[in-house]
Amino acid sequence: MSLSQLARTIHESVTLKLNQTAALLREKGEPVIHLGGGEPKSKTPLDAIVSCTSVLNSGDIKYTPPDGIPALKKAIIRYTEEYYGRAVRPENVVASCGAKQAIMCALIAILDPKDEVIFPAPYWVSYPEMVKLAGGVPVAVKPEDGTFYPTVKEIADCIGSYTKAIILNSPNNPSGVMYSRDFIAEIVELCAKKSIYLLMDDTYNRLVFDGKTPINCYDFSKEDLEGSKLVVINCVSKMYAMTGFRIGWAVGSRDLIGTMATIQSQQTSGPATPSQWAAVGALNGVQNSIEALRMTLENNRNILLDHLLAFPGLRVTKPEGAFYCFPDFSNYEKSSQKLSEFLLNKVRVVTVPGSEFGMEGHLRISFCGAAKEITEGIERIRWALDPASPNELYLGDRRLVRDWM
Ligand code: PMP
Repeated sequence: MSLSQLARTIHESVTLKLNQTAALLREKGEPVIHLGGGEPKSKTPLDAIVSCTSVLNSGDIKYTPPDGIPALKKAIIRYTEEYYGRAVRPENVVASCGAKQAIMCALIAILDPKDEVIFPAPYWVSYPEMVKLAGGVPVAVKPEDGTFYPTVKEIADCIGSYTKAIILNSPNNPSGVMYSRDFIAEIVELCAKKSIYLLMDDTYNRLVFDGKTPINCYDFSKEDLEGSKLVVINCVSKMYAMTGFRIGWAVGSRDLIGTMATIQSQQTSGPATPSQWAAVGALNGVQNSIEALRMTLENNRNILLDHLLAFPGLRVTKPEGAFYCFPDFSNYEKSSQKLSEFLLNKVRVVTVPGSEFGMEGHLRISFCGAAKEITEGIERIRWALDPASPNELYLGDRRLVRDWM
């Protein structure tokens, strides 16, 4: 088969592949616990369903403007005002097929071949591949001190003549850490000073714990939106538990957003019409589902932490938001790929190897599922790895004997 050079450099999304593996195993009746997922279990908010079904019932479902229906843009403008304190215009907003397409369009809009995009490690699996798809070069910055918090200097030291953008994602997938206000403030200033784009991936922005408040990057931007290279990315996927609707958006300067809309018009002609109406319902409707989800996630985080902290040999950083924890398992196995496969094969627990996020030795463990599954998943992992645990484990009525130690 003859494939392009570019296609041959692109890796498939490991997280999406693991979802398929888990589903196939479950179909075969295997007692799989999926701690690798990236979507909340809660249902779509009722207001989203009502809004979506009313357009479906009309039977009149046609193309929309490529950058989104006016009602969705209006809802996004209202959201931006309420949660970011910024008054923006319809020309500053593009609605896309998920945050993923919004980021992808932004990258295509700004990158020339060889241009570099900097992001801290651990990073969301898709950033390097998306940068490559847009013809650019991904530059991951791994904190020297072994934490998940890069310093501004570490980021600044990577900026060169080819640097076009920095991507920040806080709270972070896969570590759950939230960068400090000072860090975000300094990165906003650094990007303004160097005249490079800052893509703030706020996918998990409102899912924060321990009484913390979401950080608003606009607080630190002194420029008018039209003169600024700050782009804020959001979506209904995680906060509204609407991953399947595929609606995200970007807010930025009119020039950039207009270019992104043109690119999108040639890619997909815009997001699916019923999904846009669902997002209108979610954004304009009753907002209590986000707080309910946030509280469930915080509770799950606490349960997970209790188990992980009692697990000998792990290095655990407390997640401050999102729904991922990224413990260091290297005392047990240095290759996260091997460890993840081992855990799936032996105890049927799905985790995501840290190597995919640019940090070997770690596993990403999601806590967006049921508390019972989290507890059982970690117990199974511990049984598989900790020599002090009993020699046998029952998965339902299947008896496992640990014969690998
Ligand atoms: N950014 C981050 C950090 C994510 O974790 C995800 C989804 N896993 C996305 C963007 C993409 O979101 P969407 O599903 O809306 O495309």
